[in-house]
Amino acid sequence: MRRKISILGSTGSIGRQALEVIEKLTDKFEIISLAGGSNIDLLNEQIAKFKPKYAYASKPELIEGAKYLPLEEICADKTNDIILVAVSGRIGLKPTITAINNGIDIALANKETLVMAGDIVIPLAKEKGVNIIPVDSEHCAIHQCIKDIAQVEKLIITASGGPFLHKTVEDMKNATVEQTLAHPRWNMGRKITVDSATLMNKGLEVIEAHHLFGMNYDKIDVVVHPQSIVHSAIEYVDGSVIAQLGLPSMHIPIQYAITYPERYEGIKSKSFSFSEIARLDFEKPDWNKFKALKIAYDSGRKGGSVPVCMNAANEEAVFAFLEGKIKLFDIINTVEKMLETHQYIEKPSLEDIFSIDNEVRTKTKELFSHLLF
Ligand code: MG
Repeated sequence: MRRKISILGSTGSIGRQALEVIEKLTDKFEIISLAGGSNIDLLNEQIAKFKPKYAYASKPELIEGAKYLPLEEICADKTNDIILVAVSGRIGLKPTITAINNGIDIALANKETLVMAGDIVIPLAKEKGVNIIPVDSEHCAIHQCIKDIAQVEKLIITASGGPFLHKTVEDMKNATVEQTLAHPRWNMGRKITVDSATLMNKGLEVIEAHHLFGMNYDKIDVVVHPQSIVHSAIEYVDGSVIAQLGLPSMHIPIQYAITYPERYEGIKSKSFSFSEIARLDFEKPDWNKFKALKIAYDSGRKGGSVPVCMNAANEEAVFAFLEGKIKLFDIINTVEKMLETHQYIEKPSLEDIFSIDNEVRTKTKELFSHLLF
């Protein structure tokens, strides 16, 4: 029996790599639906090659070779065994909840789903008996290391440190979009690459880990590891540390998530050689230079609606940076400013979450139009 899969965000970085994995495992997977965004040419190429029944695009009339289905209906289609949620941003949240409500397992590459609504999504998945398998390399590593979460003392999340790891604050202040997008280790989409440069990405991952593994923030550490060979680790109550290692490639965690609990050769990374790698370095994160990390920890600890505000302000600020409207450091200044005036809600409903998200985005954009820094 082939596993029936749909991919949300098939034309993005994760979606494209997932299809490369599936191409190597055609006897294991049947693609039910592919959902792309505005890159309709690529989506139509993917449809011609992988022959899904259904497809989604922002302009349905341009889809060739598959029947159009809205995102919500793709996620409500119980033919699916698993859905890979690889869209970026808040649009991942609603379809993920629909899929969970329909008892479909999730391979989750979308951070916002848990950052915005982890307190809703995780209990719902438990109630419906749905597995959420993380695609993010760090959480995938932790998922591979954990046997019994009750025996885990600490999660240790590694961070490459991004392009500004050993640069000065001044360098960061004057960073161009091009310098910011030149990530030394990982080839990813633009939004996440900017987040990796400010370390907000790591902050979002800490919040994600808190929800996925039910771990207190005091028991989640971040360590900078520039080679990105150790993808993350856990420490057991007896002090034993188990880490997952590998060459940095997103194919491997994607493949792990969509084939779990099986493992196949698929896209096999080059055989691992400790002697070729020779050394692994670790250092503490510079909390002063990478303020985003502290902001994310604080927001996560406060919980409720605070991470929703942080995430919305950050995402809008990243877009403004990519458009050349603000400087790199202004991203974090914006997030701080939005958090200062945020009206805290302890247990936001989904409606609350979406309305806070919209409100913060509107306010953030207003701030840029007046440039009130
Ligand atoms: Mg990651």
